[in-house]
Amino acid sequence: MTDAEPRRQPARSETGDPLLLTPGPLTTSKSVKQAMVHDLGSRDEAFVALNRQALERLPEIVHGEGRYVAVPMQGSGTFAVEAMLTTFTPRDGVVLVLVNGAYGQRARRILDIARRAAIVHETAEDTPPDLAEVERILVATPAVTHVFAVHCETTSGILNPIEAIAAIVARQGRRLLIDAMSAFGALPLDSRTTPFDAVAASANKCLEGVPGLGFVVCRREALAETEGRATTLTLDLHDQHRALEKTGQYRFTPPIHVIVAFHQALEEFSHEGGVPGRGGRYAGNARVLIEGMRALGFRTLLPDALQAPIIVTFRTPDHPNFVFQRFYDGLKARGYVIYPGKLTVADSFRIGCIGRLDADHMRGALEAVRETLAEMDVDLTPR
Ligand SMILES: *Cc1c(COP(=O)(O)O)cnc(C)c1O
Repeated sequence: MTDAEPRRQPARSETGDPLLLTPGPLTTSKSVKQAMVHDLGSRDEAFVALNRQALERLPEIVHGEGRYVAVPMQGSGTFAVEAMLTTFTPRDGVVLVLVNGAYGQRARRILDIARRAAIVHETAEDTPPDLAEVERILVATPAVTHVFAVHCETTSGILNPIEAIAAIVARQGRRLLIDAMSAFGALPLDSRTTPFDAVAASANKCLEGVPGLGFVVCRREALAETEGRATTLTLDLHDQHRALEKTGQYRFTPPIHVIVAFHQALEEFSHEGGVPGRGGRYAGNARVLIEGMRALGFRTLLPDALQAPIIVTFRTPDHPNFVFQRFYDGLKARGYVIYPGKLTVADSFRIGCIGRLDADHMRGALEAVRETLAEMDVDLTPR
């Protein structure tokens, strides 16, 4: 942070922290964090009730009341994805993994380590799966029992066609497992029209809780078939569910503070109008960001039709004075934290649109980008 000399006070969240324009951990509200300033025992009635209420809301978000049940899993989001894959895939199952980024690759690794058979349909990070090819593989490979797909691949921010994928999987009589970590609560997913056996997500993305809890919303009948399939004790969703149903208790220490904050975050989610409200705010953030960055001369990796309003990948500008670390430091000094890219197809960086941020925050971030570019003596606009 050498020559970054902001002219005004840096931007701050409600609790005085830099704004996280990242896909998690992300900026949360003051009231969500304040919910954590209590110690509760895991058998405390108030905690047991808050936990139950929070979990009961999750199937509603995918219109799965009654047919689906949410099973929580301590840990970051990946713990929930690993729990889903290793609980649902039978010993002799085969998973077709649709890969167009790091999270698809990670699923494949999870299956390899758990010694569950996987075949991969991979497309470039800026390309959705080839649906005709997916159907062809399912027809040609009767051994495939499950298909795994990522709803929004956070590596690039691409929106994968989950409804069309689900239709193919159902038509071919297979089961669908979804990683909707960065989409759940903001992008619609309707289990009545988009059938799936399980969807994994976490408290700390679009639901704006704090990190430390994932969950899997499971079709009840499918979960009931999974007894004895798990490859680990801790990540066994069937066992976790049975214990919670029977006793209201987690098998192992629950992240009490995280769950109490998650309950508050879900109150705020409902208050904002659920998926349409939350998704609408993020879509507004993405629109302001993309228009503003394009006006400054940046180019997005994805065409608008493939862009989810969650996180936006920008190509690193081809300008001799543009150095990502200086750009990052200049934004950080002004109160905005962005994310480096992790693409193989192009040099890039990412700016998130999720968390407790609105269009004014995005306009502030654009002003910080403008100032930082001027400081680096970078002009990207055509002259
Ligand atoms: C964030 C995310 C995860 C989980 O990542 P953690 O670091 O384990 O929380 C998984 N899949 C996708 C698509 C994500 O965006």
